[in-house]
Amino acid sequence: MHNQVEGEVDNVKVVVRLRPLSQQEVSQGHQTIARVDNVTKTISVINPTAHSEPPKTFTFDEVFDQQSDQITIYNKVARPIVENVLKGYNGTIFAYGQTGTGKTYTMAGNADVPEQRGIIPNSFAHIFDHIAKCQQDKTFLVRVSYLEIYNEEIRDLLAKNQKYGLELKERPDIGVYVKDLSSVTVSSADHMYKIMQFGGLNRHVGATNMNEHSSRSHAIFTVTIECSEGSGATQHLTQGKLHLVDLAGSERQSKTGASGDRLKEAAKINLSLSTLGNVISALVDSKSTHIPYRNSKLTRLLQDSLGGNSKTVMVANIGPATYNYDETISTLRYANRAK
Ligand code: ADP
Ligand code: MG
Repeated sequence: MHNQVEGEVDNVKVVVRLRPLSQQEVSQGHQTIARVDNVTKTISVINPTAHSEPPKTFTFDEVFDQQSDQITIYNKVARPIVENVLKGYNGTIFAYGQTGTGKTYTMAGNADVPEQRGIIPNSFAHIFDHIAKCQQDKTFLVRVSYLEIYNEEIRDLLAKNQKYGLELKERPDIGVYVKDLSSVTVSSADHMYKIMQFGGLNRHVGATNMNEHSSRSHAIFTVTIECSEGSGATQHLTQGKLHLVDLAGSERQSKTGASGDRLKEAAKINLSLSTLGNVISALVDSKSTHIPYRNSKLTRLLQDSLGGNSKTVMVANIGPATYNYDETISTLRYANRAK
């Protein structure tokens, strides 16, 4: 169990990122209904069907407008977390939001175009730059794993042969872990990138519609960094874990007229996202004594990396067009509660 530690509140941050309107949205005449203010760190949203209503305003740890580029997001949102992981602590970065608002752009981006690289590939470069600059007496071991949670089922994305239905286990010495999950030792940023691409391709397998699949599953890319310093009696070992999470779409699944299996699937997505919200708000609320990690696979899996000395950041992604009003407000309410 985690004890509440001083400064824990500072260890959980929630930021908002607005994506630009797409070409299609512009040509269809959609307007932008959300505006951020960098000074007050607020976002204001106008109700397009009730112009006389005052805009709804929410405050966050940081707000990013349509022009914010990938490297700015990395430096302000991810860099402090990765620095902490390099020192031997755990960290988790989530991308939250309805489908189409920029979660995957924020986490992965387009790695082939350097300025469009997202948090994950930028973290690879950061980690190996750090290692290259370190003193000779430090040795590092960097390992990655990549999984998705689909329908509350854990799938290994790095296994050569599909491995579904992996089990969550717990051991006193290492905490919660996924039994039989592949783990690959990587030697460079480039190598990590190739592994990420391989896992990404595995996400497509068996999916009739990739977009639909990714909007219904949580993808977790985990980097474990072990550092050993000195030798013999003075040897000092640290291990930090970084989880990079592209969450399932937060849109109300019931609206899409789902039935049968689809409805059950939808209920599981809603349950895991609401549990995540409950866990984060319990961590931030110093009066909370019970953190409901066990209510979903996602939070159980990340238990050791949420709270305590771990740093967590949630990026709430927003599509600022008129027709997204309801989902935008629901994302902001969720994110506001988590902060
Ligand atoms: P999600 O993963 O939330 O479903 P995506 O990341 O796939 O959404 O983004 C939807 C579309 O919007 C993609 O074509 C993506 O390239 C584009 N996009 C998202 N965020 C941005 C941004 N900040 N700047 C430019 N294009 C973006
Ligand atoms: Mg996506």
